Amino acid sequence: MTDVLKQQVTEGFTAHFGYSPSGVWSAPGRVNLIGEHTDYNEGFVFPFAINRRTFAAVALRTDAVVRVASSFAQSVVELPLDQIRRDAVTGWSAYPLGVAWAMQQLGGATGTGFDCYIESDVPVGAGLSSSAAIECAVAVALNDLWEANLDRRTLARVGQLAENEIVGAPTGIMDQSASLLGELDHGVFLDCRDLSAQVIDLGFAREGLELLIIDTKVEHRHADGGYASRRAACELGAATMGVGSLRDLTVADLPRAKELLDELTYRRVRHVVTENDRVVETVRVLREQGPTAIGKLLYASHESMRDDFEISVDELDTAVETALQHGAIGARMTGGGFGGAAIALTPVAKISEVTLAVLAEFEALGYAKPDIFVVSAAPGAHAE
Ligand code: ADP
Ligand code: MG
Repeated sequence: MTDVLKQQVTEGFTAHFGYSPSGVWSAPGRVNLIGEHTDYNEGFVFPFAINRRTFAAVALRTDAVVRVASSFAQSVVELPLDQIRRDAVTGWSAYPLGVAWAMQQLGGATGTGFDCYIESDVPVGAGLSSSAAIECAVAVALNDLWEANLDRRTLARVGQLAENEIVGAPTGIMDQSASLLGELDHGVFLDCRDLSAQVIDLGFAREGLELLIIDTKVEHRHADGGYASRRAACELGAATMGVGSLRDLTVADLPRAKELLDELTYRRVRHVVTENDRVVETVRVLREQGPTAIGKLLYASHESMRDDFEISVDELDTAVETALQHGAIGARMTGGGFGGAAIALTPVAKISEVTLAVLAEFEALGYAKPDIFVVSAAPGAHAE
């Protein structure tokens, strides 16, 4: 697949711009193994880069014009480098143009324009961060071509800044960190307080495990209001407990939290505090016992999101329970909630049984047909 996309992106560049690119760069999407709604509470997340990638074929120009095109939308978008602003860009081109803008803000730009063509097999809107994949592919390309020498942490901030300021989405830095720091069969354990990251051996391949993505196709129902009210509950909980963020609480603080907080806020807080604990625990268990021992933590995360944070939906619960009944060693909903995808860590020999069982159960319950596929932990962004 990789070779096919690499060839296609080169051909696409030549077809659109009439000459050959000076190189091809790629960056992966990501999935979050564990650590949900912990990022904005300055806690821990543990995503990994996946074997679905976005490819960018790029060449510098001699003037200051930027032209971007994608297999996603055929028309070429053209803009002078110094005119990239939120209100001057629309649609998908905000991602690559935003990166060019953000590189200038963070000290990496030379003022030279470029042509860029994009090809990808990261599914859009399935919770696998096709947006970070496109940002990071363009960021590593420009970092090389502009000889900017920005390190990977800074490039992650470039992607985030592009998404926050030019796309206009108030996202954190998890997706870009996973896409830039990922390694084969490793996860990226990220501390959202100081943004320090550790690359952790997952051992899935060694142990014959694969991660199934079960995309329920449920649009994130009530996601905006639900997300805002969860954030508000976390802020109220932290303020009442007298801490700057919920990261400062541990499970030992929960009895006091139960006394001080109303019942609903308490459950929201309990999710975040125990979820942080589960992320740290997952890393420890991986190191000490290997991946076959993390199943319980994945399911505990799901239960906490279902019962305490109340962000699951019936389709996600069905996906998780069915996967576990048919041989997955751990499963949970992943992402912000109210729809989207579940993940199921599954022995290779059980992949087809789990897949067929989930499809059958969804059909029996009258749910839309889910999209089910396997991902593995892949290397981060690089030059091809
Ligand atoms: P995701 O969860 O997949 O990151 P987002 O809404 O954050 O979803 O980002 C999806 C957007 O990223 C798309 O709507 C599109 O604008 C852009 N995008 C993703 N992949 C491509 C691509 N191959 N070519 C052009 N734009 C893309
Ligand atoms: Mg995104």
